[in-house]
This record gives sequence, structure tokens and C-alpha cells, in this order.
Amino acid sequence: MTDRSIVVVGAGIVGASLAYHLAGNGRPVTVIDAGLPGSGVTQASFAWIGRTVGSDRPSAPLRCLALDDYRRLETELPGLAIRWTGSLTWDGFDDEPGPTTTEVAAVEPHLLDPPPAAIHRPEDAAFDPVAATELLIAAARDRGARVLAGTPAVALEQRAGTVVGVRTTAGELPAETVVLAAGTGSVALGAGVGITLPVEPSPAVLVRLRATPGLVRGIVASPALEVRQLDDGTVLAPTTYGGEIDQAALLATARRVRDRFAAAFAGAGDAEIVSAEIGWRPMPVDDEPIVGPPPGVGGLYVALTHSAITLAAALGRLAAAEILTGRPAPELAGCRPDRFAVTS
Ligand SMILES: Cc1cc2nc3c(=O)[nH]c(=O)nc-3n(C[C@H](O)[C@H](O)[C@H](O)COP(=O)(O)OP(=O)(O)OC[C@H]3O[C@@H](n4cnc5c(N)ncnc54)[C@H](O)[C@@H]3O)c2cc1C
Repeated sequence: MTDRSIVVVGAGIVGASLAYHLAGNGRPVTVIDAGLPGSGVTQASFAWIGRTVGSDRPSAPLRCLALDDYRRLETELPGLAIRWTGSLTWDGFDDEPGPTTTEVAAVEPHLLDPPPAAIHRPEDAAFDPVAATELLIAAARDRGARVLAGTPAVALEQRAGTVVGVRTTAGELPAETVVLAAGTGSVALGAGVGITLPVEPSPAVLVRLRATPGLVRGIVASPALEVRQLDDGTVLAPTTYGGEIDQAALLATARRVRDRFAAAFAGAGDAEIVSAEIGWRPMPVDDEPIVGPPPGVGGLYVALTHSAITLAAALGRLAAAEILTGRPAPELAGCRPDRFAVTS
């Protein structure tokens, strides 16, 4: 027998948002993580919060809520420290038509070679993804959730086709509902109960540079360079990664990013490399979120997506409401696991 416990596996931005939205609603909530909250791919994220999306994508109704849900969340959690800096994109970086400005130099005055026009989304934002995850976890705890860091899930416990708990290195956690929010770690846990989650671990690198503060005002993105800058001068620049996973290749990637930054912004010539970190993004094969109960097994709910920083606030609220009430959220209809043949 279980009580009505909910166990969330994974305390990245997705699991943290779920735990926050689930907690304090009458069901015991436990969130576990193999490491510390935010120590998965979340810690290597560029953490751009934007709702850019083709309106024909199945997840468009969810993505449309992304920014509004962060506005809500920051009123609930004022410490969230979202930086509403806006974004500037050009050269086809952005597939979706957007509000175009020809005043690029006014938006980003330090660009050396501003394009004649760019898409300007003043509503876009970013934050410190680890600080945000920790805040959500702390708020979930304040609402009564139990948080177990350093507690890897070894397997899901299943009885008669229903998941009834999580086996961890510290013992079993019985649950009426297990939420798999373990990023790339979800695939192996799902496979243990016969669920095939078509998610590839996709590497990307976050390069950190030290530069003169005030060179980049908002989020700037072209196919050559994505960049934003913190108040202390730290520059964050993500890049996709297809090469060998070794230190030499990482350093070469960081140098390329540094050189592109130096060529793009006046005053950036002395930028120094601080670090280059690989993150393994949980990338559904069709690039759309996988959210909901997978068919073929009871007691399980899956929340997996790329662009999870952008989506976490809305996804956490909607998924938590589904889990608590049993009523499907129409905004998640395009994200269901049953679009794949998930049982094996
Ligand atoms: C360079 C880079 C730039 C990015 N830029 C953006 C961006 O600008 N905007 C955006 O929206 N997204 C961006 N992303 C993607 C975004 O970071 C991810 O989609 C998001 O962090 C995924 O969060 P998550 O909670 O699903 O996964 P994770 O952060 O990986 O969290 C999963 C957690 O589960 C835990 N776990 C795994 N297995 C187990 C287990 N067996 N037992 C217990 N715990 C387990 C892990 O320790 C981890 O803490 C970027 C990613 C990278 C690498």
C-alpha cells in the first residue's frame, strides 16, 4: 500500500518547478536527485527565456505561456531575479518572424558591425539557472516537500503494471505517482519498466568569458554567436558541440567563441576564457516536449524537454495540476508520450 505520495525524480529546473507546483496541495511530495539541485545540464545552460516558436508546432500552446508563467512566478518568488533584458536575433537565427528593428545600434551600441535590421524581442529574459532551481527547491521545501539530494534512483518499483515507488541507494520510496524529471537519466529509469523514451543526450557547450562589463546589454544571437553578459562582466556564450569530448577540443571551441565575441563587440578584444562546460541536453527525437503519463504503465508521469529553462514555469504549473486533479491540460495535448510507440 502507498499513501498518496508523489516522488519527483530529478531536481533540475524541470523537477524543481514540478516539486514547487506540486507541494502544499495535500499530497506528500518528495523530490530526489543523484547530486545537488541544478547539478545536471541545468547548470550549463545559457538560460534564455523566450517564447519564439513556430505557431504550427505541437508545443506552441505551452510555449506561448512561457513568459507569462515566469511573470507569475517572480511575483510568487521575488528572489527569482529574472533579467528582462530582451533579445536581438538576425541572419535566420530565429525561424519565426518577429518584430523587426532597424535601430540595432541603439539596442546594442557596442556591436562593431550591426546588421541593417534584426528581430527585437524586448520581452525575452534570462536568469541564473542554478540559483532559480535552488530557489524553487527551497520554496517547495517551505511548502512541505521533502528534498533528498545525493540520492540516486536505482530503479522504479513496479507491481502488476503500475509503478509503486522508487528504489534509491538509500532505500525504497513508495509512491502513488512517480514523476520522471531526471533529464537524460530518465531514459534508463523508463527502460527498467518497459518504457522507451525516444530522447537523445545532445551535447552543447557553455563558454564563460571575463570581459569589460557593459559590452552586451541583452541577449544577442546570430548563427555565429549567442551571447549575454552579467553585471560583473562575465560573458555567457553557448554553442552546439559535435566534436570529440576532450579538453583540447573544448579549449578550441572556447577559443573560437572568444574570437567571435572579440570580433563582434567593441572593447571585447581582451576577453579571457574562464571555462567551457559541456551539458547533455535531453533532446526528444522530434524536438517536442514529452509530458504526461506514458501508455502501458500506471503510476508514472514523464516530464522531459529541451528548452526546459524557457518552459519550466508553465510546464511545472500545468503538469502539477494534471497530476493533482487528473484533468488533462489542453495546452499539453501536443506533448503526450503516446505520440511514440513507447511500450516495449
Ligand atoms: C549550453 C547550453 C545552453 C542552453 N541554453 C538554453 C536556453 O537558452 N534556454 C533553454 O530553455 N534551454 C537551454 N538549454 C537546455 C536546458 O538547459 C535544458 O533543457 C534543461 O536544463 C533541462 O532541465 P532538466 O531539469 O530536464 O534536466 P537536468 O538539469 O539534467 O536535471 C535532471 C536531474 O536529474 C538528476 N538525475 C538523473 N538521473 C537520476 C537518477 N537516476 N536518480 C536521481 N536523480 C537523477 C540529475 O542529477 C539532474 O540534477 C541549454 C543547454 C545547454 C547545455
